[in-house]
Amino acid sequence: MTATSLATHELRKAFGGVTALDGATVEFQHGKVNALIGPNGSGKTTFFNCVTGMIKPDSGVVSYAGKDITGKAPHRIARHGLGRTFQLCRTFPRMTALENVLSAVQPKGLIGGLRGAKRRSEIDRAMSWLTRLGIEHLAGNEARDMSWGQQKLLELAGVLMAEPATVLLDEPAGGVNPALLDRIGVLVRELNAEGRTFVIVEHNMDLVMSISDHIVVFDRGRPIAEGPPSVIKTDERVLGAYLGV
Ligand code: ADP
Repeated sequence: MTATSLATHELRKAFGGVTALDGATVEFQHGKVNALIGPNGSGKTTFFNCVTGMIKPDSGVVSYAGKDITGKAPHRIARHGLGRTFQLCRTFPRMTALENVLSAVQPKGLIGGLRGAKRRSEIDRAMSWLTRLGIEHLAGNEARDMSWGQQKLLELAGVLMAEPATVLLDEPAGGVNPALLDRIGVLVRELNAEGRTFVIVEHNMDLVMSISDHIVVFDRGRPIAEGPPSVIKTDERVLGAYLGV
């Protein structure tokens, strides 16, 4: 049996009169590539924000690896092993790619703050992530001079630098060119094969269907279907709610 990685029970969140999460009970398995899909406004971002501590749910429970993490601060949740990228990509524009990746473990982003062997090994580790993501040649470039897709890879390198067991990706394919898209797909599968769990919010259905083991479909703030790609592709509720047919 696979252990539960990330789970929510009856998660609710309203903004004024708008219900964003309407009692969402979801379970993602450890070691899988999970996707969370659904129409715009179905609550996917709010779900990510609640599980990573960016916003507090009105009620319900978020648990990670069996521990209750409901309402904890983002940095504490990150320390449990949950890493996250953002739809609108969070990098420091005036820092170099290398400094950006180091900032994930050295909050001030100052490599000068590290000394000796520790400094050397962190730089080596950061460089190896940049290499793994195919952007090592940009290590000395400021993030603002990198393309959108390269900045997304850079953000992911920073997330991986913290060695999270579970990685939440918020629209990794958004605004990324087709060649890079393929690379992201391959990378996710490789990183998963090494033991990392993924939860991915994504609109690109080709990508979702090709890399996911398990898909959860949201509509109006709660799951309406879940299963492997072969099942989700043909589920009538999904076709109705999401694909509009
Ligand atoms: P998705 O990511 O699936 O597009 P969201 O979680 O962004 O969905 O939004 C769910 C609903 O909650 C939408 O109706 C949206 O307008 C509303 N919503 C989300 N965040 C806020 C907010 N900060 N203030 C007001 N309404 C919000």
